[in-house]
Amino acid sequence: MASAIIQTHEKLVKKEISCTQLVKEKLEALAKNQYNSVNFLLSDLALAKAKQVDDKIAKGEKIGLLEGIPFGVKDVFLLQGQHASASSKFLKNYISPYTATAIQKLVDAGAIPVCKENADSFGHGSTSENTIFGSVKNAHNEELVGGGSSGGSAVNVAKEYTVFSIGGDTGGSIRQPAGYNKVYGFKPTYGRISRYGLMAYASSTDCVGPITSSLEDIELVMNVISGKDYHDQTTYESQAINLAPALTPESVTVGYYGDFIDNKGLDEKIKSDFLAVIEKIKAKGIQVKALSFKNADTLVSTYYALAMAETASNLARLDGSMYGERIAADTLKESYAVTRSEGFTAESQRRIVGGNQVLSQGYADEIYLKAQALRKNIIQLFTQDFKEVSVILSPVSPTLPPKIGNSLKDPLAMYLSDIYTIGFSLGELPTLTTPLGTATGIQITADKKQDELTLKFAKYLNEIL
Ligand code: GLN
Repeated sequence: MASAIIQTHEKLVKKEISCTQLVKEKLEALAKNQYNSVNFLLSDLALAKAKQVDDKIAKGEKIGLLEGIPFGVKDVFLLQGQHASASSKFLKNYISPYTATAIQKLVDAGAIPVCKENADSFGHGSTSENTIFGSVKNAHNEELVGGGSSGGSAVNVAKEYTVFSIGGDTGGSIRQPAGYNKVYGFKPTYGRISRYGLMAYASSTDCVGPITSSLEDIELVMNVISGKDYHDQTTYESQAINLAPALTPESVTVGYYGDFIDNKGLDEKIKSDFLAVIEKIKAKGIQVKALSFKNADTLVSTYYALAMAETASNLARLDGSMYGERIAADTLKESYAVTRSEGFTAESQRRIVGGNQVLSQGYADEIYLKAQALRKNIIQLFTQDFKEVSVILSPVSPTLPPKIGNSLKDPLAMYLSDIYTIGFSLGELPTLTTPLGTATGIQITADKKQDELTLKFAKYLNEIL
């Protein structure tokens, strides 16, 4: 698939469409859509910006590649003066006091935010059903979930309602909905993009990243939003991604985890399709190694113990006194309790209660510290494996997207469905979902800061599959 950004740019420059017309078309499509992918339209802001672009073009001035390109923003990012609801009742009417760094960089490059996108509330979920704005429907089958938590963003890109979207990924929230809706989704190395202005879920794995219809668009967007930010001390300066020089396949060794594939929960067809991809790669003369994860079973429990602990702590600030809706009661304590009970969804409450348990006296050593130790082991294992291989391939999800309604009945099954995405989050590794190979795509992971390699390998796979 060619770059949607470049194609749109060319249409603007050749005056095949005005920016105002383009933005109007996107806003109309977003407003009419039946997929529940949008929480708020940014009509006034977007049309004002489109006019500026049109004025520039009319004057014969040059416009940058991203200038005038309509994009979507997951509704967990702040954009000054606009809603930021986290798809929650709590923040339904909350207005952002400032703009997230990644979004600001795009706006500075001239890209136009057109909507705030539906998602699982506070990033809690794998289906985008945990939202007050209605379950997000899959772009290819409306009876199925859109995936989560960045479901609205992936659906908007798949339906071309936005040229690209910006999601957040704590344990798979960009990669899994990208796979479910057959688009690209990239979670960069932790720290490559600033988290400033992204509502915190689990701060130690939260990442910002693009969802696009092409690899070139990931490259273009990444090169705008990456970089060190004074507001986020975990960020670092990175080199621009350059997809143009082709990969030399002989220099690559591919790994995959045998235990991921032997997982009883893995759909038979996804399994055979994944193994067929591995065979095709081998047939090209590329070295492939089967690796052992050793403790794949502990991935879900390690991730959820830490993610719940971190989200309980991050969301403690939401008690009605500083942000969002406050419900009055006889005492302050009661007011906190009612406000939090009413404002958070059942799934978020489950995580807050679980997280506080994980962190509480008498349990913290047994659960939280143990999970931290397990995470260290997981990171060491990846470090070891990347001495032997340059990229690791894995399925994105063990099953096809579930029917809307099914996951809400069984949260544990939903947690288990994250098995293939969360490990790379704990490892802080760059991982790309490419919509190829299996019905829900394939993940390509490289070592820390080797973000470019995941994209280059995907480009190579595009050629051989
Ligand atoms: N599904 C995972 C969870 O619920 C990941 C969500 C995310 O990355 N925000 O925690």
